[in-house]
Amino acid sequence: MTSKRIDQLRGRSAPLEMTEDEFRSLGHDLVDRIAGFLGSVRERAVTPAEAPDAVRAALGAAKALPEHGAPAGELLENAAELLFDHSLLNGHPRFYGYITSSCAPIGILAELLAAAVNANAGAWKLSPMATEIEAQTIRWLAQFIGYPADCGGLLVSGGNMANLTCFLAARAAKTDWDVRTKGVAGGPPLLVYASRETHTWLQKAVDITGLGTDAIRWIDADRQQRMDLAALELQYTQDVAAGARPFLVVGSAGTVSTGAVDPLPALAAFCRERQLWFHVDGAYGAFAAGTPDAPPELAGLVLADSVAVDPHKWLYAPLEAGCALVRHPAALSDAFSYHPSYYSFGGEATNYFDIGPQNSRGFRALKVWLALQQAGAAQYREMIGDDIALARRLFELANEHPELEALSHNLSITTLRYVPRELRESTGSEPTEVELNRLNQELLARIESSGYAFCSNAVVDGRYALRFCIVNFRTATEDIEALPQWIADLGRQTQGEK
Ligand SMILES: *Cc1c(COP(=O)(O)O)cnc(C)c1O
Repeated sequence: MTSKRIDQLRGRSAPLEMTEDEFRSLGHDLVDRIAGFLGSVRERAVTPAEAPDAVRAALGAAKALPEHGAPAGELLENAAELLFDHSLLNGHPRFYGYITSSCAPIGILAELLAAAVNANAGAWKLSPMATEIEAQTIRWLAQFIGYPADCGGLLVSGGNMANLTCFLAARAAKTDWDVRTKGVAGGPPLLVYASRETHTWLQKAVDITGLGTDAIRWIDADRQQRMDLAALELQYTQDVAAGARPFLVVGSAGTVSTGAVDPLPALAAFCRERQLWFHVDGAYGAFAAGTPDAPPELAGLVLADSVAVDPHKWLYAPLEAGCALVRHPAALSDAFSYHPSYYSFGGEATNYFDIGPQNSRGFRALKVWLALQQAGAAQYREMIGDDIALARRLFELANEHPELEALSHNLSITTLRYVPRELRESTGSEPTEVELNRLNQELLARIESSGYAFCSNAVVDGRYALRFCIVNFRTATEDIEALPQWIADLGRQTQGEK
């Protein structure tokens, strides 16, 4: 029996294999479909806004695992239709939700190419060119934001993982006991300082690494949502007096909610004096550092011990691509390597499994590397600057509109709310604020289900706001100019039907 099977495997042809011609023909067909999809994105609804049941019905979610195979062409055609017709299109020019960008078409092709070679970028030997391309990409990303190009770094899945990677580097560097062997129980309680506007990656990081969320000292933000330095100093002084071990301050280079930039140069000085690790979460805003209109404080990220950036946000890379940058490359191997530092895989080769949490790794760098070259740094800065300019324009237009109230504008995030004319005079009073919060919450639901545009929400100074974030090279002036009146009209309808 076994030997018969072995005989049949001469000139093996497995069910998953494709001939060169089959692959070419299916590939051309799929690329044609994708081109049509990209070409029609502006005419499509931003989201079909279907209920989960409808999506499951379209999929045939109850279908059991097929025991027998099916033709690849039909499967690909069906998958493309399902996805094109039942997805939220973050590549739509009027998608302004969260911080999710339109992806560069060259990134789509890069993903195909990366999968074709299927390099395992965990070890140099398994991925010689992919590893070198990643190393070059890291240098270019550092250069783009003004960070020292001889820093250490690696690509990870996104901002959360980039921040966590830097967090672990900080933890290993700033404990005077062997925290990797003894754990956090081996020394005094470790403390981290961050503003209340910091992204939830920080809770996950202290949880995963055993510090626990009580290790976070939440520092109040000022009215512009930036960390309050005086509050930081006060808290720090109390903690040191109580015998705790502060080791890390996190500054945000663009908060996730309103895009506020913490006073990074002052935070850097604070950390330098006290020998604390200074980490900057630049997942959203770091790439704006080189643009002429960026807030000057953003330049302070060059002083950080580590920076998390997110190419799948403002570099318009398709998901997933985050990146951890660490000033001293050894801080990464000190945090992750299980080889003594004198042990090296053949001299100069980088083995990414040794400086980060992953073992086998995909080739995330290719899409970033290609897009950086396609546009070039100068035009990248221009695209980012254009997103900022459009967000500012939206703020101005909302400010001039009799039924809208512009609440904040930082980087490419503008927040605003609908205020009916009759409530205009009484804003700030409690009943009116409660009423406005509820009205704008309902308005957001209507915007989402409209299919015309998509935004998310923020709470600005206690007020429920509609939040528009432009990390979208497809958004044009006319898209932004049409928004205020459209929002006001929808606001009036929402109010009328209550
Ligand atoms: C988006 C974001 C994150 C998380 O990044 P992911 O890529 O979603 O994991 C962290 N911090 C900030 C400031 C962000 O904007």
